[in-house]
This record gives sequence, C-alpha cells and structure tokens, in this order.
Amino acid sequence: MRIARFAKDGMDPTYGIIELAVDSGEHPDTIATISGDPLAGVPVNYTGERFHLDEVRLLSPVIPRSKIIGIGKNYADHAKEMGGAVPEHLLAFFKPNTSVIGPGEPIIRPAGCDEISYEGELAIVIGRFCKEVPAERVKDVIFGYTIANDVTARDWQRTDGQWWRAKGSDTFLPLGPWINTHLSLEEAGHLSIQTTVDDDLRQDGNTREMVRGITDLVVELTKSVTLLPGDLILTGTPAGVGAVADGQEISISIDGLGTLTNKLISE
Ligand code: MG
Repeated sequence: MRIARFAKDGMDPTYGIIELAVDSGEHPDTIATISGDPLAGVPVNYTGERFHLDEVRLLSPVIPRSKIIGIGKNYADHAKEMGGAVPEHLLAFFKPNTSVIGPGEPIIRPAGCDEISYEGELAIVIGRFCKEVPAERVKDVIFGYTIANDVTARDWQRTDGQWWRAKGSDTFLPLGPWINTHLSLEEAGHLSIQTTVDDDLRQDGNTREMVRGITDLVVELTKSVTLLPGDLILTGTPAGVGAVADGQEISISIDGLGTLTNKLISE
C-alpha cells in the first residue's frame, strides 16, 4: 500500500491510500480516504470517499511524535567526497520533528546561512515500539519506507560543534510523497535513488551501496534507544551532494516511492 496524508479545502489532514493509474490501467491517479491513523496499529478502513490526486495537497506522510535519527556517511563514495572514510563507529544524529515539511513546501534558508545542500535518502518508518531488536525481527518493526531530503547547512555543519541547526533548522526535512508499506527488506535494499536540481542529475545511487544496511541500522540503534511508531531512520545519502541557490528546485526519486520535490527560498 502507498499511504499518504493529504489536505483538501475545508478538511482536516487525512490519511489516504494512493491508487496509481499504472496499477489500474486507464483511470487517473486517485487517493481513497481512510479513517484514523494507520501508524496507530488499527486496521485500515476505507471511508468510501475518493479524490483525484491533483485535487488534493499531499502533506508529509508522517510527523514523528518521538524522533528522527539521521545516519552520516553511510555510502562510501559520499564519505569520500566529504573528505573522509566511512566511520568505524555508527555516526548518527537527531533531527527534530519541527524540521519536517511535506512535498512541494519550500525549504527556507535561515538568515546567516551561506551553503544549503540536499541529501536524497531512503527513510525507514518504524511501526512498532521496539528495543534491542534482533536481526530476524527487523522486518516486523518496519511500517514502510518514504523519501527524505536531509537538508544540511554545510557551513554551519563545519563551524558548529554540534549539528543542531545545520541539520535541525525548520523546513530541513522534506518527506514524502507517501509511505510504501509493501517492500521487503531485500527490495528496500536494492532501490535506485536519484536527485536532480532543476532537472540536472546530481545524485545517482542505489540503496545496495549502503555500508550499513537497513537490518544493521535497526539492530545497532535499538541497542541504545527505544523506537516508537512513526519514528524515522534516514539511512544516509549517496555521492553527489552540493550547494543549491535560492529558487532552485530539488527532486528526489526512489523506485516505488515516487518523487519528492521542494524548492529552496530565502527567509
Ligand atoms: Mg544525510
């Protein structure tokens, strides 16, 4: 299933199931409204209401209530372009949920920030309360996958001791357009990731190039922290990161997860 959150004039944000034309043959892409929060562990109930996808505005498919964990330098070629090797110990950091925005919303360059970079990434959406997850149970705690742009203020990342604002400023985490819940671990570990800036291809990687794969990340992180439903793990970015100018549009595409597009503007 492809689960999205959307808004339509006069309606509260609502969850829906995306029905792509490619699935059904000849009909336009639609979204079927469901009741409740699918991440709350209750069965999905269709309300019977259905809209064309272009009639609604997609929102971030999840607003994590608890935490977002980013993984640094998890692709060898990206570690190299950043001037280093893959870290011996897992390099992880937190992003606050106030950095989350949805598809199409602007990324806002904060005042005083000179260098904004995109980082196209596969995001794991956790579906269960879990701690000390053994490798064979990892598939059971994952709800699905979506696309993340781990927006980074590269100048602040270099100058600040901690990455609180370099990674955590408002609007620094575009997410979406939907959560795909039917990928196996094997499939999620073999997805192409491409990032374009104004139609110019900048990143062209594949999740099979991750140094620590999905299973390893969940096992390692849950040795120290409890994960809750709706928590996210951003699995790292392939090579090809770079600065973007105000007005440029960043699009990240991952097989089966669609395309996430956001434009950079100045505060
Ligand atoms: Mg990143």
